[in-house]
Amino acid sequence: MSFFTALEADQHPDIKISRALDLTLYSTMRLIAKGDLIEIASVEGLIHFQKTCMQHNQNFRVLGWGANQPLPEVATIPYLKLNFPFDRTYLEEIRNEYYLPASVSLANLTKAASQLCLGGWEGFTGVPASLGGAIVMNAGTGLGEIGSVVKEVFIIDKTGTKKVHQVTKDSFVYRNQNFLEDGDVIYAATLIVKGVDQEMPQKIKEYLAYRNKTQPMKAWTCGCMFKNYTGANACRAGESIDILGMKGMRYKNLRISPIHANFLENLGGANLEEVKEFTTLISDKLFEKFGVRFELELKI
Ligand SMILES: Cc1cc2nc3c(=O)[nH]c(=O)nc-3n(C[C@H](O)[C@H](O)[C@H](O)COP(=O)(O)OP(=O)(O)OC[C@H]3O[C@@H](n4cnc5c(N)ncnc54)[C@H](O)[C@@H]3O)c2cc1C
Repeated sequence: MSFFTALEADQHPDIKISRALDLTLYSTMRLIAKGDLIEIASVEGLIHFQKTCMQHNQNFRVLGWGANQPLPEVATIPYLKLNFPFDRTYLEEIRNEYYLPASVSLANLTKAASQLCLGGWEGFTGVPASLGGAIVMNAGTGLGEIGSVVKEVFIIDKTGTKKVHQVTKDSFVYRNQNFLEDGDVIYAATLIVKGVDQEMPQKIKEYLAYRNKTQPMKAWTCGCMFKNYTGANACRAGESIDILGMKGMRYKNLRISPIHANFLENLGGANLEEVKEFTTLISDKLFEKFGVRFELELKI
């Protein structure tokens, strides 16, 4: 029996399977994309899914908000999306820490941070993401990184077993973490609050206004293409692309944003092949000029 036949036969109430779905709207870059999508609404459903994958030797990719993941035109393995129920009134009260499902959006958390003055939560202001995707990427801004307020990460591993990672000072690095293993899916996390910060609403408001001015927030992008180079002679990817004079440059259905040179915009109808071709071209030009290989931030 194949993986899909087995999963469909089980008819788990918290697992929804959609075959050959148009996934264009499932990533913020809106690339032309099609694939199988498995949506899961409970931890029990996720455990069942992991065990079925294990039995059938089936790989998959987790899809958060697709804000850092340009999707392929035809996906060869299924996407897993978590859609856990969440009562938003939980975020209407001040607590020392919050236990949150991985599928909750950072926008909801930022709204709570602003309303309740939650100290330490300004670091991810304006980052489009699910909590799970933000933890995987250690999403952050000029104001900080999400890793600094994560206390525990709750995981279902590839055998369908629950694990808890207690965060230490070494758990997170720049735009990455080092505790997830192959096949791990984050289903929840505990976030701490670093006291009440009365200036939080103002900080968040000002930072959102700054982002709206300096980043193409309305264009179809997947955020930054490249990580900033942090080795000797550290340099910022956007500024380096700008120095090359490539800001605004077009390639097929793509354009380097005229607002921020590290953002790649889909002008409509672009696909992953075009993204790969263009980012390779930009990377080669950067290497020729600066002798530095910028690492891709996009998860391709
Ligand atoms: C306009 C714009 C601005 C942005 N600005 C910033 C910024 O300022 N700072 C910043 O850091 N990023 C920024 N980004 C990038 C993006 O928002 C972050 O990388 C974010 O963390 C991605 O979250 P996501 O839920 O969309 O994850 P996805 O992009 O869907 O996935 C990212 C990775 O996480 C994995 N993943 C997702 N959920 C889980 C889970 N529950 N368990 C296990 N693995 C999982 C995926 O498989 C993938 O490998 C921006 C993006 C856009 C479009």
